[in-house]
Amino acid sequence: MRQFDPSHGPGRLQEDHDRFPVHLIGLIQPHGVLLLLDASLTITQVSENSAQHFGLRAEALLGQSLLEVCTPATSVDHLLQVVATCTQKPVYIPFDFSAGESVRHCDGLIHRMENGIVLELEPAVPRTGWDVTLLQNTVQRAIGHLRSIEAIDDFLQAAIAQIQTITGYDRVMVYQFDEQNAGAVIAEVKPPEAVSYLGLHYPATDIPQIVRGLYHQNLLRLIPDLNATLVELVSVDGSAGAVDLSHAVLRGVAPCCLEYHQNMDVTALMVIALVRENQLWGLIACHHPTAKFLSYPVRAACEMLGQLVAAEVTSKVDRDALNYLHQLRAIQTEFVNSIAQAQDFKQALIHPEPRLLEMVNAQGAAICLDDDITLIGDTPPLDAMQTLIQWALTPSSGELFHTNCLANHYAHADGIQAKASGLIVLTISRLRRYLILWFRPEKLQVVNWAGNPGDSVQTTEDGAIMLCPRNSFEAWKETVEATAQPWQPAELDNAIALKNAIVGIVLNKADELAEINLELARSNDELESFAYAASHDLKEPLRGITNFSHLLLRRYGETLDDVGIQRLKTLVKLAERMDRLIDALLKFSRLGQTSLRCQPTDLNQLLPKVIEILQASDPARSPLTIAVPHPLPTVDADPTLLIDVFSNLLGNALKYTDRPQPAIEVGSLFPEAPQLIRQGKHLPPNTCAIYVKDDGIGIQPRHFQNIFRLFKRLHERDSYGGGTGVGLTIAKKIIERHGGEIWVESILGEGTTFYFVLNCKEK
Ligand code: ADP
Repeated sequence: MRQFDPSHGPGRLQEDHDRFPVHLIGLIQPHGVLLLLDASLTITQVSENSAQHFGLRAEALLGQSLLEVCTPATSVDHLLQVVATCTQKPVYIPFDFSAGESVRHCDGLIHRMENGIVLELEPAVPRTGWDVTLLQNTVQRAIGHLRSIEAIDDFLQAAIAQIQTITGYDRVMVYQFDEQNAGAVIAEVKPPEAVSYLGLHYPATDIPQIVRGLYHQNLLRLIPDLNATLVELVSVDGSAGAVDLSHAVLRGVAPCCLEYHQNMDVTALMVIALVRENQLWGLIACHHPTAKFLSYPVRAACEMLGQLVAAEVTSKVDRDALNYLHQLRAIQTEFVNSIAQAQDFKQALIHPEPRLLEMVNAQGAAICLDDDITLIGDTPPLDAMQTLIQWALTPSSGELFHTNCLANHYAHADGIQAKASGLIVLTISRLRRYLILWFRPEKLQVVNWAGNPGDSVQTTEDGAIMLCPRNSFEAWKETVEATAQPWQPAELDNAIALKNAIVGIVLNKADELAEINLELARSNDELESFAYAASHDLKEPLRGITNFSHLLLRRYGETLDDVGIQRLKTLVKLAERMDRLIDALLKFSRLGQTSLRCQPTDLNQLLPKVIEILQASDPARSPLTIAVPHPLPTVDADPTLLIDVFSNLLGNALKYTDRPQPAIEVGSLFPEAPQLIRQGKHLPPNTCAIYVKDDGIGIQPRHFQNIFRLFKRLHERDSYGGGTGVGLTIAKKIIERHGGEIWVESILGEGTTFYFVLNCKEK
């Protein structure tokens, strides 16, 4: 292993790494000879190692026509045709190189670059090891077998096992890149005693962009001996110039790549690019601890397998994505249906627990229904949740907010990022504080540590840092800290669908309520018309009973004894009470049916009319004195109905007292009156509260509500002049029909004040 100066740790190295123009290295690997030709096939540049391979020094080759030194094993015509049509992609053509007496067979690769033709010649490997036919058979069988494997993991494992067999390399791995181009080892074959790299992650910077681009273009890269000394190119005029070796298979190894792999004890390296939808999806990396050359046919076979792997990965990834999409949709349908049928949608959200998490593939969720917070799965603790929810309720977050890095948005993410780096906030109702939150853990928390990269030493005794998988993992950790797996569009769709379902349920419930109200109103109407009809029908016979009783008393009064007379009088009284009751009921039932005739009504004029009516109904009361401390306002109300309200309230004030001369006061209060504020009554503008105050017997607070109910009386039927228990119910109904409110304030034994609110324009 090579050591680095601390000042030249992974970070520094990385900078060089990215800047280094890998393709302009100007050096080639020594296992072949590179020739640069002009259009007439004259050799303009050549690698210095020609003598080693062909016994001819570079100088002897420069300026010569290619055909004078070597001949294509096919035909010259074929060569000329290849040269005329070749592109950047190297084309294979075998050559015979005559060096003195002997002839050397070479594998040639020809491609075009901007300023000429590049011919790379590698001495052909004698046909030991892999015979071409055997290789062909093996690859064909491998393809057949691989195609039958369904699961992507099994497929990749089998594919790299095949590549290991064909290449004889020690370790073969599949790296997969994520959206940020960081890599992870997702499949591996290796000798049993070797350290496993499976599950290790690398930062995107481990493979610089420029190298990534070259992999994408060339698909296969072989470095049979990382330790071999690189070879320079020489030209006719002695200056090699910068030759673009992007597409040259012999391109020299960049120093950073060399160091990186030497630290992993790798000497021979082959990389096959896996391109999916024109993106570098991943790599198959083959490592060997000693130098190991692979002939052109073996490389071609591997490249073919690589293409098969890429194609299968594409279809398998697409299929898996599609399956996942179907699965999400199925969960959505099932969930939404069950919620729609649920009486209580919160229960439906919670049971069974995993459903809500599966909806968006989250690890945890919180359901917030106002102050009620329910946690499911792996979530931050409740106290942290309160602050998070408060933040989530800010209007800027919209209907659906999502992130895979909460720390970028939320100031208090620090303590909760392990469980909540990924967050979806679904706002169902901001007003009611209805939210659903879903959580995904920080990526680091879910990294699968199958291997133990701790064996790769990180620092040496003198503190030197080494670039090794372990360090890469550390570097990767920094790039993914506080980040979760991103949410997919289909998952977010599911969240929205859930919201729609919940809103639907809430709306349905509102519809149901409206329906019930309608039903109630209808039966109320029916009841009212029944009451009206019944009262009407009762009035006639009642009048008959009264008249008949009076007649009996008049005609036969002398012949009847005292008991008989008394009974007849009771009958008359009963009939009269019933008559009053029927009148009250008639008024009550008519109230619901007649429409209001609101008009500006001056209460200063209305009140004397009421007093007149009260006096007429009970002449014994006169003269009636009622105090009015201030002029009363003009209200917007139906005067006929308002007379009923005042008659009842004043009638009660006169009735429910033990004093011979009750003190009764009628007045008005405007919204800002302290008397109202004290009672917690906040009236809208342009309204006023009218009060009727007495110094009577008073009412116990526990009856403040009851007295407004139909037929509710607090006293014996005949005490305090007898009552029906209907008056206040009617008054309440009248005030409510005007859009107002009526209430009572009272102290037992001291007196009672009734307040009611009406619209009024002027003060
Ligand atoms: P009623 O015909 O019995 O007066 P109301 O509906 O007008 O029927 O009143 C309901 C009950 O409220 C009465 O029976 C009475 O006990 C009580 N009440 C109403 N007004 C007063 C008041 N000013 N002082 C004391 N009690 C009252």
